[in-house]
Amino acid sequence: MSTRTGDFPGGLHLDGHKTPSSGRAVETMPVPPLLVFPLHQHIGEPALPVVEVGESVLAGQLIAHAEDYVSAPVHASTSGRVVAIEKRPVPHPSGLPAECIVVEADGEDRQAPCEAPGDFETMDLSALRNRIREAGIVGMGGAGFPTFIKLNPGPGGDIDTVVLNGVECEPYITCDDRLMQERAADIVSGALIIRHAVGAGRCVIGVEDNKPKAAAALRAAARDGVTVQTVVTRYPAGGEKQLIKILTGREVPSDGLPLNAGVVVQNVATAAAIFHAVSEGRPLISRVVTVTGPGVAEPRNLEVRLGTPVADVLAHCGADTAAVRAVVVGGAMMGFAIHDLASPVVKTTNCLLVDAVADDADQPQMPCIRCGACVEVCPQLLLPQQLYWYASVRDFDKVQDYSLFDCIECGCCNFVCPSHIPLASYFRFAKNEIWAQERERQRADRARERHEFNQARKEQEERERQERHRRKKARLKDPPDEAAPADSKKAAVQEALKRAQARKEGLEAGTEGTEDRG
Ligand code: SF4
Ligand code: SF4
Repeated sequence: MSTRTGDFPGGLHLDGHKTPSSGRAVETMPVPPLLVFPLHQHIGEPALPVVEVGESVLAGQLIAHAEDYVSAPVHASTSGRVVAIEKRPVPHPSGLPAECIVVEADGEDRQAPCEAPGDFETMDLSALRNRIREAGIVGMGGAGFPTFIKLNPGPGGDIDTVVLNGVECEPYITCDDRLMQERAADIVSGALIIRHAVGAGRCVIGVEDNKPKAAAALRAAARDGVTVQTVVTRYPAGGEKQLIKILTGREVPSDGLPLNAGVVVQNVATAAAIFHAVSEGRPLISRVVTVTGPGVAEPRNLEVRLGTPVADVLAHCGADTAAVRAVVVGGAMMGFAIHDLASPVVKTTNCLLVDAVADDADQPQMPCIRCGACVEVCPQLLLPQQLYWYASVRDFDKVQDYSLFDCIECGCCNFVCPSHIPLASYFRFAKNEIWAQERERQRADRARERHEFNQARKEQEERERQERHRRKKARLKDPPDEAAPADSKKAAVQEALKRAQARKEGLEAGTEGTEDRG
């Protein structure tokens, strides 16, 4: 299916549930008594603690360092004392606990000194990226990829366009809408920094056409060539590939990245965080979270310190936490249920959706009737029923032949399936299995290489040992003639004496001749 610029294939018109939270200004939540900082709040390797139990920390102080390239540091979000470094519940679909630094707040909220403000236009580009890295900034739209890496396209990375994603297409989430309305100037300033960092000429902020106030605020703040463009309100218009298609008409290649289409995409909240890091020297220690759903008396958007337990956030919004049945982190379509309300708010927590259980949640899964509804809505032009069939029989080669890794897990296919098949869950399962197999294969390859290296070393040592043995045996069998060297030496000396004598005689004869001629 081909689509014109300004649109994308498939997708869904979803009922919005945004009004309860979008009409109120962002409020700041008080600092809770205990904060939990997972070492892994991003894609990549976890950060490593640089504090110890019993140590005092300040708000904004580094508490975990990013050792690996694909990683992000973690900072304390208030002042207090480290009371534990241990496994705690974290917001992750697996429900497994993970290593966290636990800080007891002292109630004083003392701030660590900020890095000096920087003028991005005169900063060295690698220093600029480093500052963004050290501020711990990751994609705040939910992906959690370390931002500085996206700002470093490397040799051959020819970025000409920066896209800021202000498309909040999930039906309940409004945190970016409020941010765009209230902090448009920060977002535009962040956009200029991003454009400078990647050397792009163009920067466009995409906003859904159902958010006129956000678009108006951004247009009022826009400067230095940053433009604002409204886009169709249809889920998932905020998917990176969909938004690039809408705003630039370019297709990101299958298995490719936005970089391959000359584009870098950042969420609007990430842009604001970049501005705070570079121009004010502030690390990422808080974020705006939408708290909504039938289980919350007063849905709203809150500025929450990272590390705040979900239970505290819900209690602040008037929820009876003992009665809460389900909390989904990240929205109705792409979010996941958390298993423990002690899990903290992290850098990627954009929404806490309380007790919003789907109407057909209890419907049993039925066999596929090949109705084709899932194909109609897939924004990636995939064949979900085929993918489902091969994923369910664990045919991981075939599932890749059907472009599994182009699936953005938007859940449109689930939503329309009359047989209630949780298609996106099958696709997530297949991806995880393939990644696990790939990791296993790499581990096996490394083990095989180590084994082959050791084997080759042993064989070489054996060859050398045998050669030494052979030479020794040869020497014992055929011992060298001990007298020969002495004789040959003597003969050589005699030869030399003869030659010297001959030279002497010749010289004397020559002298006589010269005198005759003189
Ligand atoms: S929507 Fe469901 S039932 Fe229909 S073809 Fe797709 S998987 Fe099968
Ligand atoms: S979850 Fe994947 S297969 Fe299903 S509609 Fe979205 S992109 Fe297509």
